[in-house]
Amino acid sequence: MQRTLSIIKPDAVSRGLAGAVLAMIQDSGLTVVAMKMIHMSKAQAEGFYHVHKARPFFADLTAFMCSGPVVVSILEGDDAIARYRTLMGATNPANAEEGTIRKRYALDIEKNSVHGSDAPETAAFETAYFFSNLEIVG
Ligand code: ADP
Ligand code: MG
Repeated sequence: MQRTLSIIKPDAVSRGLAGAVLAMIQDSGLTVVAMKMIHMSKAQAEGFYHVHKARPFFADLTAFMCSGPVVVSILEGDDAIARYRTLMGATNPANAEEGTIRKRYALDIEKNSVHGSDAPETAAFETAYFFSNLEIVG
C-alpha cells in the first residue's frame, strides 16, 4: 500500500469540477483516506512548491495556487503514486492521453487542474504538509 497527495487546483474547483475529478479518482480504484477544502496563502503555496523555487514559472504558479480554494486529499492504493500520475496525464494537457484528468479538464500547462506527488519522498512531505495523522482514516 502506498499513499500520494492529490490537489484539485483552483481552475478545476472554480469551474465546479471537484466532484467530477473525485469520481475519476474513485473509479480508478484509488481510495480517498483524507480530504479537505482549503484556500492557501501565498506563503503556504510557496512552501508546498519549494522544490520549484528556482523555476521561471514559480511566481505565477504560487499566485495561481492561492487564487482560490483547492481540494486536497490523500489517495491510497497499490502503487498509488504512479497510478495517480497516469490518471492525471502529462503536465501540459496538449500532451495528455485520452481518458486522463488533464486531457479532459486542464486549461493549459499551468492551470492543469490537478497535482499529484511524483515519488515516495515527495508524497511523504506533501501529505504531512496538509494533514496530521489524526485526519487520515484507516
Ligand atoms: P506536475 O504537476 O506534472 O508534476 P511539475 O512538477 O513539473 O509538473 O510542475 C508543477 C506545476 O507547475 C505544474 O503542474 C503546472 O501547474 C506548473 N508548471 C509546470 N511547468 C510549467 C510551465 N512551463 N509554465 C507554467 N507553469 C508550469
Ligand atoms: Mg510535480
